[in-house]
Amino acid sequence: MNTIIFATNNKNKVDEVRSILDQKFKILSLKEAGIEIDIPEPHDSLEENACEKARVIHNLTQKDCFAEDTGLEVESLNGEPGVKSARYAGEDRSFENNIDKLLTKLAEKENRHAQFRTIICLICNGEEKIFEGICKGIIIADRRGISGFGYDPVFIPEGSTKTFAEMSMPEKNIFSHRKKAMEKLTAYLKK
Ligand code: IMP
Repeated sequence: MNTIIFATNNKNKVDEVRSILDQKFKILSLKEAGIEIDIPEPHDSLEENACEKARVIHNLTQKDCFAEDTGLEVESLNGEPGVKSARYAGEDRSFENNIDKLLTKLAEKENRHAQFRTIICLICNGEEKIFEGICKGIIIADRRGISGFGYDPVFIPEGSTKTFAEMSMPEKNIFSHRKKAMEKLTAYLKK
């Protein structure tokens, strides 16, 4: 079985990625790989942040690894919160405060179209590859559902009437940005 380190400390993301990848690949979170590090995300683009995270872990371990960075891009806010999605309302990275800020900013807006965009940077056999996954949808005015994380309670993907937070993980995977990016990664690894 191929083992790959997923350079994240976010348990939700690890669970989602495990539910997407088939049994051929074994995913190790940073904790499971024995690495205790809070990798910075200092850049202005998802691509640079994802690659920086993957490079830090590859330099530390010399093992195959990947990292991802995801942003919620809202049309009428010129792509905000985007790369700043995790810290939109402050350094404490509070999901609740981030949603409150987003809903306040959108209160007067008619256009509520948005998309989640995931960038994955894979370093495999020393080679770097980038994969993108996009999920389009809308931001609703009030939270619905308790599953998932982040902005899930206010995001309804195109083709559904439920928010991500009202879906099981397999349902979210039908639409999700992360799933689309991971599918491209697995197709590449299987080549
Ligand atoms: P990062 O990729 O860990 O920097 O994630 C940025 C932020 O985007 C997270 O803290 C979440 O608030 C949000 N986010 C990322 N992926 C998702 C998702 O699948 N659903 C809802 N929010 C997400």
